[in-house]
Parts: sequence; structure tokens; C-alpha cells
Amino acid sequence: MIDFRSDTVTKPSAAMKEAMFAAEVGDDVFGEDPSIIALERYAAELFGKEAALFCSSGTQTNQIAINVHVQPGGEVICHEESHIYKYEGGGIAKNSGASVRLLKGDRGRIDAQSIEQWINPPLDVHFPLTQLVSLEDTANRGGGAVYDFKNILAIKALCQKLGLPLHLDGARVCNALAVNQVNPAEYGAAFDSISICLSKGLGAPVGSVLVGTREFIQKARRVRKVMGGGMRQAGIIAAGGLYALTHNRERLVDDHRHAKQLEETFLKQNWVDSVLGVETNIVVVQLKNAAKRDEILAQFMSFGILAMAFGPGMLRFVTHLDISAEDIDFTCEKIGEVVVSD
Ligand SMILES: *Cc1c(COP(=O)(O)O)cnc(C)c1O
Repeated sequence: MIDFRSDTVTKPSAAMKEAMFAAEVGDDVFGEDPSIIALERYAAELFGKEAALFCSSGTQTNQIAINVHVQPGGEVICHEESHIYKYEGGGIAKNSGASVRLLKGDRGRIDAQSIEQWINPPLDVHFPLTQLVSLEDTANRGGGAVYDFKNILAIKALCQKLGLPLHLDGARVCNALAVNQVNPAEYGAAFDSISICLSKGLGAPVGSVLVGTREFIQKARRVRKVMGGGMRQAGIIAAGGLYALTHNRERLVDDHRHAKQLEETFLKQNWVDSVLGVETNIVVVQLKNAAKRDEILAQFMSFGILAMAFGPGMLRFVTHLDISAEDIDFTCEKIGEVVVSD
């Protein structure tokens, strides 16, 4: 099976497993796991931040960051289709007792003007206190769209003026950086906290890392413990994460090229209405006839190709390091063989 459902499906390579096998470990709740310390140091340095925290998932890093930034009753501003709101099980309300202000925006992105419009006047007791702005880059529901860094800087300037923290759900931030060629440290300077998934396109089996100031990470470490996320000899998985972060960033451009190739092929099919312009590794296909979605998915499955339903009349294909150039050629051939009756 060629599995395009998500870039989370990758299996650790032999070299990654070797790094994991050889990992030195210790009790991380005591701060004694050298492999976790090495990963946290590397991630913090890469993004020009003081400190980092290794966590079990991107949901956990996001939820911990939100919990540190906001108080119960406060409000988080984010895009209406953002992962932190839509796909984290109501965690903002459940874990932090905060409300959300959901903004519309082009392909999962929001801008400084609309954020400014929705910041509540802090002295008016009717309104929840706006306490956090959160962006997603790349934007998953936006089909892997990348922010223009100028817009991030404009949002940063607004947040700074108002004393609001700015968080990045950077599950796929390395994909964004591979496209816009911005230095990771510039992202680090723009955001108060960044959550980075190691288990997406970077190919580690488990884990995400949260970066921020030393004080922020100290608080985050406490929240992680409270949420039951203090792991012991987890260096064995952190070593896979460090391997992913050091070896698999540069090759993300291959995934992007593969996604482009799929897009071009989809656009030639008479059953395809449109494709969300591919910028990174996510291909979202809008079908002409929404009712045919599951039938088309079944045809792909019969060819040995797995994709995901992504809403009414939409399919999502995600490229990743376990999908080769040959797999892409094969898939493009099969896309041409899909038959959709009227
Ligand atoms: C995958 C993802 C996450 C985190 O997901 P986990 O499965 O909890 O690691 C967060 N944000 C976005 C945009 C994602 O795609």
C-alpha cells in the first residue's frame, strides 16, 4: 500500500532505529535523560530559543503552551479551522477553561488587521480577556499553505504592542521553512512559543517538541507533569526525534516536489474540480461530484493507494519520506485510470 493518508504514517528507518537502539537514557522526570536533553538543546538552539520540552504529541505541546499562556475565562484567537480548535478534542476549554475567537482567513491563515479587530477591550468587563494569538504554519486545512513571513512579523508587532503572547502550531513548520527559506531562528524570534512535530514529515515514530524562554519551558514542564506527560527513559524515542530533526529536514523539498507532481496530474482529470494550490506536502482535491468521493477512494484502494476523505467532496493526499519517486509515478499513472461515471 502507498499510504498518502498522512505524513504521520512513516516508519523509522534502519538508521533511525540504530540511533534509537544506541540511545543513552535516564529518568527524564529527574532531568537525567541525556538523549532528551540533547534533543531539547538542539531544538532550542535551532529556533534560537532558550529552552525546549520534549512531549508525547503535537496536541500535548499545543495544549501545554495554551495552558501556560492563558487563564481560565481568557480567550484565544485562532483561525476557525485551526488544529488547536478543531482537532484537539475541545482541549482549550477542557484543559485551560478558555474560550476562543475563531477568525476566517485565506487557507487557514489569519492576518494582523482581523486579529486587531477581535481583540477585546480589556477594561470592558463584558468581554473575555484576549490572552493569546495562535497561528498554524503550514496550515493543514489550508492544504499546507505557508504564511508570508512579512504577515507573521506584522502579527508579532501587533501582539507585542498589546502585550499578547503569540504561539505557533508548527506541526509542519519545517515544511514551511523549506519553502520560504526563512531561518528557523527568525521564527523563534517572532513567536513566544513554537510546537514542532517530529512524527510528521520528519519521520520520527513519536513526539513533539515545544520551544520558548527558560521561564516558559519551566512552567510548561510542570503542566506536562500535571497532564501525565512526564516520561521516564523516553530518550529511546527522543533519539529518533533528534535523528529526524538533524537528518530529515533538507529532504522535505522532495515531498513538496512529489506533491506538485500529484497536483499537476489531478488537474488533468475531468472528475477533478480543483486542487488547493500545492505549496508543501499536502494535496487537497475538490471533486466535481461530491457524492463520488467514497467510490473514488475505494478505486484508489483497489490500486493499492490510500488517501483520506477531507470533508464533503474533498480528498487529501500527503507526501512523506516513505513515499518514493517511483510510488509517485505509479500513483500518477493510477490517477489517470480512475473512472467516474456520471
Ligand atoms: C498533526 C498536527 C498536530 C499534532 O498532532 P498529534 O497527532 O497530536 O501529534 C498539531 N497541529 C497540526 C496542524 C497538525 O497537523
